[in-house]
Amino acid sequence: MKTIGILGGGQIGGMLSTALYNLGAKVIFYDPDPLSPSFFRTYNHFEGTWNDYEKLKVFFSSCDTVTYEFENVSTTLLDKLVQETGTQIYPSPKVLSTTQNRIFEKSFLKENNFPVCKFIAAQNIDELKHAALEFSFPYIIKTATGGYDGKGQWHITNSQDFKLFINDYNNNHSCNNFIIEEKINIAYEASCIIGRNLNNEIISFPIFDNVHKNQILYQTTVPSVLPTSVQNKLKEISIEAAKKLEIIGLLTTEFFITKQKNEHTCHEECDGYYIYVNEFAPRPHNSGHITLNSCTISQFDILARILLNLPIHEPKLIPGYYCLGNILGNNLISKNNTHILNNWTNHQNIIDIMIYGKKIIKENRKMGHFIAYSNTKNEQVEHAEKFRECINEK
Ligand code: ADP
Ligand code: MG
Repeated sequence: MKTIGILGGGQIGGMLSTALYNLGAKVIFYDPDPLSPSFFRTYNHFEGTWNDYEKLKVFFSSCDTVTYEFENVSTTLLDKLVQETGTQIYPSPKVLSTTQNRIFEKSFLKENNFPVCKFIAAQNIDELKHAALEFSFPYIIKTATGGYDGKGQWHITNSQDFKLFINDYNNNHSCNNFIIEEKINIAYEASCIIGRNLNNEIISFPIFDNVHKNQILYQTTVPSVLPTSVQNKLKEISIEAAKKLEIIGLLTTEFFITKQKNEHTCHEECDGYYIYVNEFAPRPHNSGHITLNSCTISQFDILARILLNLPIHEPKLIPGYYCLGNILGNNLISKNNTHILNNWTNHQNIIDIMIYGKKIIKENRKMGHFIAYSNTKNEQVEHAEKFRECINEK
């Protein structure tokens, strides 16, 4: 029986652990937060900080293979742990060092001729002020590291916004490295999840269409409404990136798609659609939670198989139309989980609700998700909206 270690005890690690248990593996979590929802899933866990080398070393030594559910861990530390304990970590620290830093990530895209929006990297605030002159409004400033769900991002639509950003920066120097990028006039957002194992077997999930609100994933739908040619192009780009990065594990590629040609940027054209890679996540992705209900094999099953060095095969879409909706802290602040779970009775088309078990409720924190289903196109989104209205009622 193999033991898989997961760095991070949140919902992604939790769902992955279920897939690992189903294949007969043992799971151990490592997280600094004593209230990590996944701690209750295992007989053993490690509570320790991300720079507690000695504790991490004991954790690594207790596992056959380690993976991570989030990206902000020092790769120098991980490299050292792999070397000293002999326990492998997948995806590799090398992959993580590229994807956890927006400067390295976007430079990787550019150097390898993947379609990417116009961007400039800045190593300090003076470089940033200088780089900003190269952009017309609107543009976006992002911290190079540590951002997620839109955190560490400033949307600059006029010079006043830039002053507000400088104010924020002066009050909190948590990051010195930034990237500035043009704001794309997005018509569609999509994601593509690729799995690759040690034997170089590669699989691709169907393309998911994503809608973000306030830079946080609001809904994911499948099948995608994009033309098949565009979906194939997205898969092709994602597979090429997974091979270039030599990933062992899952690679999610997030895409922006526009209908506008832009002479000044590097997009990929396909049947009148213009494609950009936004970013990568070398792990299960929020949009991919929909695979638990809509695909013959979930993203967690594929990753579990890769971590256990088992063969993988292509997941297929189970016929129907699916919509994932996130349940944020906002939905729960004035209520509790029971309210949401009880509402299910009146919503026959909500085929799944998952509550992540987080003890602390915060606005915009992902607390759970639900899946709406229909056998008629577009109706799944209507079912999801009705359910949202209901859980949002005061
Ligand atoms: P995060 O790591 O928080 O997911 P992203 O870079 O993916 O950061 O940004 C979150 C969301 O913000 C995107 O999914 C998109 O909706 C919007 N966004 C980010 N960058 C751009 C851009 N250059 N142009 C237009 N919208 C953007
Ligand atoms: Mg993103």
